[in-house]
Amino acid sequence: MRRLIDRRHFLKGAGAVVALGAAGCRMPAAGPVGSRPALQLPPLRVSIDRITRVTVCTRPFRAAGPRTDVERIGTRTVVHNYGHGGSGWSLSWGAAHVATASALGTGERQIGVIGCGAMGLTTAIVLQRAGARVTIYAKELPPDVRSSWATGLYTPDSRIAMEEHATPAFKQQWAEMARRSYETFQTFLGVAGTPVEYIDQYAVSDEPGPRRRGEAEGKPRFAELQREMTPDLVMTPVDHEPGSHPFGQRYVRRNSQLMFNLASYQRLLMQDFESAGGAIEIAEFRSPADFARVREKTLVNCTGYGARALLADNSLVPVRGQITRLVAQSDATYGLRYQDTSFVPRRDGLLLQVTGENDYYGYDDDTTVVDRAEAEHAVTTIASLFPAPATSA
Ligand SMILES: Cc1cc2nc3c(=O)[nH]c(=O)nc-3n(C[C@H](O)[C@H](O)[C@H](O)COP(=O)(O)OP(=O)(O)OC[C@H]3O[C@@H](n4cnc5c(N)ncnc54)[C@H](O)[C@@H]3O)c2cc1C
Repeated sequence: MRRLIDRRHFLKGAGAVVALGAAGCRMPAAGPVGSRPALQLPPLRVSIDRITRVTVCTRPFRAAGPRTDVERIGTRTVVHNYGHGGSGWSLSWGAAHVATASALGTGERQIGVIGCGAMGLTTAIVLQRAGARVTIYAKELPPDVRSSWATGLYTPDSRIAMEEHATPAFKQQWAEMARRSYETFQTFLGVAGTPVEYIDQYAVSDEPGPRRRGEAEGKPRFAELQREMTPDLVMTPVDHEPGSHPFGQRYVRRNSQLMFNLASYQRLLMQDFESAGGAIEIAEFRSPADFARVREKTLVNCTGYGARALLADNSLVPVRGQITRLVAQSDATYGLRYQDTSFVPRRDGLLLQVTGENDYYGYDDDTTVVDRAEAEHAVTTIASLFPAPATSA
């Protein structure tokens, strides 16, 4: 029922998109207005026939935030590192340091990491750098893990916890994770294969004023932490006046953001882990009793949404997200957000996603079936910003 309501909502929006697209054709051509020079951006080649893949996955959200405690299960010490919602890649290095301190605090130097997604890979590498011998146990490896189907932006407070659970201690730990991750991402800039880069992102709006993360009436608010806890990592946005950019009379606000090219980034992390002597074993754990099967006495549990079934952890809520991928375009180096859809110019493909009006879009929805109508809606929404050039008679 929830998905049907969502779909009806955005299809209604799709009608508006067509109307806006038509209106866009009547808008005056871009030209310099005021003192700011006109913004030039290469048009995107975004159309339904250029869709190459649609993927769906569930963000592992916990109202109380990620699980980082240490638990004794049978004969093993288990350090938990899961439940990072829509921020797993963004917080990965910081979360890895928290888990590493707990794991090495047991005195063991041979550590098993369960899971090979964003959290497992980064935790394994940080453990190695701290002197541990590490084996990763996982039932899936990149590129077949959920982490591969993320957008790939630095979004450290995206669906990370509910505001009511964001205590001062939680905020402090979050800020340390966000900051350490941000610093680590700087070390990947300029590396061959461009695993990490900065992009300009343009929020395009039909109305003046900054876009705010919408609130869902009568529901708990998601914690918003970036401006409060790491204001120095948030860049000052720049406004482009209507008519001074390629999007006609719309309002445009630019910001810069870190983007992870997940295909090359994951490959690099796998190489780093293996070249430092890391071992990988394919294994599925069906219950906590299976932890006793591995050699290591200390384990770090990085199973993401898989922890819900493995540990019967019903505090993990699935937040469905669908990514529509189009043929890559080498001169597309900027991102967009327009109406309910976002666009990210990854090197391995143009990525589009319907993100809805607020963070509840896809909340408590574990369906991983592709929604073709949603994919086409994302494409037509972004395409409407680029009216087709007039053809000569
Ligand atoms: C559409 C979408 C967009 C997103 N965009 C972003 C973004 O831009 N930036 C960002 O920071 N985050 C983003 N996220 C969130 C991010 O993808 C997740 O937070 C992150 O992938 C979680 O990583 P993980 O390693 O915990 O889980 P996973 O990637 O799911 O990895 C879990 C690992 O554990 C293994 N495993 C699980 N259960 C078992 C078991 N029982 N036995 C053995 N192995 C097991 C799996 O095989 C896998 O190897 C997005 C998520 C979605 C859905």
